[in-house]
Amino acid sequence: MPRSSLKTVTTVFLASSVYFGLAQGIILNSLDSLKANYDYIIVGGGTAGNVVANRLTEDHAVKVLLLEAGASDTGVLEIEIPFLCTRAAPQTPWDWNYTTVPQPGLNGVSIPYPRGYVLGGTSSVNCMVYTRGSKADFDRYARVTGDKGWSWQNMFPYFKKSEKFTPPSDGHNTTGEFNPSVHGFDGFHSVSLPGAPTVIDNRFNLALEQLHGEFIPNLDDNSGSPLGFGWSQSGIDGPSGTRSSSAAGYLATSIRNRSNLHILLNAQVSRLLPTGNEKGVPIFRKVEFRVDREGPLRTVTASREVIVSAGSINTPQILLNSGIGNAGRLKSLGIPSLIDLSDVGENLSDHPLTVLAWFVNSNETYDAYYRNSTLQAEEIQTWESTREGAFVNGIAQHIGFVRVPDNSSIFHSSPNPSSGPNSPHFEIFVSNYLLGNTPPTGNFLSISAILLTPGSSARGSVKINSTNSFDVPIIDAGLLTDKTDVPLLREAVRSILRLSSAPAWSDYIIGPANLSQPTITSSDAEIDAFLRANTGSAYHVVGTSSMSPKGMKTGVVDPDLRLKKAIGVRIVDASVLPFVPAGHTQAPTYAIAERAADLIKAANLVSS
Ligand SMILES: Cc1cc2nc3c(=O)[nH]c(=O)nc-3n(C[C@H](O)[C@H](O)[C@H](O)COP(=O)(O)OP(=O)(O)OC[C@H]3O[C@@H](n4cnc5c(N)ncnc54)[C@H](O)[C@@H]3O)c2cc1C
Repeated sequence: MPRSSLKTVTTVFLASSVYFGLAQGIILNSLDSLKANYDYIIVGGGTAGNVVANRLTEDHAVKVLLLEAGASDTGVLEIEIPFLCTRAAPQTPWDWNYTTVPQPGLNGVSIPYPRGYVLGGTSSVNCMVYTRGSKADFDRYARVTGDKGWSWQNMFPYFKKSEKFTPPSDGHNTTGEFNPSVHGFDGFHSVSLPGAPTVIDNRFNLALEQLHGEFIPNLDDNSGSPLGFGWSQSGIDGPSGTRSSSAAGYLATSIRNRSNLHILLNAQVSRLLPTGNEKGVPIFRKVEFRVDREGPLRTVTASREVIVSAGSINTPQILLNSGIGNAGRLKSLGIPSLIDLSDVGENLSDHPLTVLAWFVNSNETYDAYYRNSTLQAEEIQTWESTREGAFVNGIAQHIGFVRVPDNSSIFHSSPNPSSGPNSPHFEIFVSNYLLGNTPPTGNFLSISAILLTPGSSARGSVKINSTNSFDVPIIDAGLLTDKTDVPLLREAVRSILRLSSAPAWSDYIIGPANLSQPTITSSDAEIDAFLRANTGSAYHVVGTSSMSPKGMKTGVVDPDLRLKKAIGVRIVDASVLPFVPAGHTQAPTYAIAERAADLIKAANLVSS
């Protein structure tokens, strides 16, 4: 998100918004129904956790408890309505409301660092852009973990398994807008193309034609070969015009009603507790938690495994609280070290994001929906009654992925951080409004840049600073701290400036929204200064519980996602990825969780 939008809580005008606590149904509405023991306990009902909950309970004999710290997602319009996604987080009741430490790469500024605090986790508050990354990203995961199971070839079926590609909300003919052969149609995560046309669509496509040498078309960026430009796909269920979070998809009513799945909301896990050892290797099958923030500490036990899916910030926090992490640092805090694993919370990797925007000569942009409460209420009514109109669209209508040439001077003194020759360095996406705080007047076009390949030293961390498991963690996002980061993002800015100079925009773009915004004649130094002052995060946080080969001392989990040096614990969420992929992270998280469920099922077959 642009940094300006992160500093203020945006006022949202909503006709109605409901915030449920414990819901009825198989979601437990009383602790009396909670058992002392389950086969599996899943910590975190977020993007990955709900996939695992769904898949493990396909076998009715398997009893699963899902503990989620946040509340129900049901009836929250900011979550359900795709257009309102930027109002679901940050700094809302559905956000953990974290803030980073001052970021040296961003002129020393701290930035908000949202994570979903609600059933569905971050899939309930994200911007829904659906991209998988490149084939080379997954082949690199396979290489560095020593497990071919993480290769593109093996993960491609899991992308398809998780996905339900749906027609767009307006039912328009999508021939030529995507490649059906690379999509799944029977999964739980709905994906669709934009469901309402916008005033910029024709101009954007014309601009691509006019600049064809540089901006090549790509029918579908989710084939493993993302380079090029095309229509943006989002995690939106087209026919209902609704966000497809993991709660809406993987925990649809029929799944929530499974009697072998218990879901406890408002249940925050503090620690994993040791339950014995096998040949000196500690076993952790007990989970400590509290309900409703104030409640007493309780425990519950798993007979098979505890699966930690609390996300890239909270998963390492829970491990550190439990005495699993850098032994010296834990001891200095007064926490007994149970497993010395110094990479817990380290290696945080994220995508920097910068927004460029222009005043435009049109009153058909979406800006007015954010600033005018009457218009917003009317559009919500349209959405509620027809599931059509502007509010079925997410943030991006058009998207593209670009690779900087291998002979660029950027790579003369530093290694090229890309995962492979067909993998992009940056992404560009186009929005029909100002992505950020909406000013009182004006109509806008935004074209945003995401640096997809942060360099190897651009790594942050998650640390704890007290023995109180419920204190907020200390987060360093490490944004723009590698030598290659700003030069590569500068290339993205130059690319956007060329795109915005295409004749197609000549009677549309009036001038820059921000006077300090670079122009086509800006020097490198001017662009770099703009980037340091105006870059935020795309919130694609990974790496804090990284996979590494079995037996390797670095890393946090083995390639089968089992916690190293322990028995009984697996980690299944975005934190296990050792590098951030060259794309947004929710689609990879769904695919990882699908594979994890198969790994867990297979291990259980062997052990029984
Ligand atoms: C604002 C925003 C916009 C984004 N936009 C996009 C996008 O457009 N496209 C995209 O692909 N990706 C996007 N992302 C990133 C993507 O959504 C995440 O990478 C992905 O959803 C992470 O999934 P996860 O399972 O690792 O964690 P989460 O989905 O965050 O799940 C973790 C769950 O665990 C729960 N939890 C945490 N701690 C505890 C505890 N102690 N006890 C019990 N429960 C706990 C949380 O409440 C949460 O429900 C965005 C992220 C943000 C924040």
